[in-house]
Amino acid sequence: MSAKSTTTAHVLVIEDEPQIRRFVCDALRREACVCSESANAVDGLRQVASEEVDLVLLDLGLPDMSGIDFIRELRTWSKVPVLILSARSGEDDKIGALDAGADDYLSKPFGIGELLARVRALLRRHGQGFDATPCYEFGDVHVDLSRRIVHRDGVEIHLTKIEYRLLAVMLASNGKVLTHSHLMREVWGAGYAEQGHYLRIYLGRLRQKLEADPTQPKYFLTETGVGYRFQS
Ligand code: CA
Repeated sequence: MSAKSTTTAHVLVIEDEPQIRRFVCDALRREACVCSESANAVDGLRQVASEEVDLVLLDLGLPDMSGIDFIRELRTWSKVPVLILSARSGEDDKIGALDAGADDYLSKPFGIGELLARVRALLRRHGQGFDATPCYEFGDVHVDLSRRIVHRDGVEIHLTKIEYRLLAVMLASNGKVLTHSHLMREVWGAGYAEQGHYLRIYLGRLRQKLEADPTQPKYFLTETGVGYRFQS
């Protein structure tokens, strides 16, 4: 896809307050953007994967998932630019969102002129929005990251939120060694870097659920003294 102007850009607005959603979408459509809407995070992820989305406008306070978790999850398979719209204007929220992979941040209430200017700037900087590769296969396991569905030999496997996030982070770094502290930070957050035993427990559970022989793992490999590596 070549660089886009706003006149053909497809913007997805993820916001649970209908009035704000309508206000933002009306403004974007007046700019001749194509605008999709989602009132929750899970539908939003699905839409990014199934439609050619060039930019995501994301409310941090969603009913089904925190905006930060949304960004972390999205960033395991997509580089689509994300502009945060948030009523929380604390510096920590901004830092958290930007560290998780957001591209820009706008505090509510905001002027529509500033919103549109930031949208134009992000679209200029990111010519290629749609780059999703949300599906992975290894052995008899099939993972659809956008739908958060894991099958093994055709049977759906239930993963907890943490197991799922650990899996997504490892798949996104196929072949690379990930240190304990990196994995802890990516999966649990910045305050957990020293809690390495959690990681051992959850990695063991992933092996139980996804490896043919969890004691002789083929995919979720231990790098002794360093961390772990996913190898497909
Ligand atoms: Ca909200």
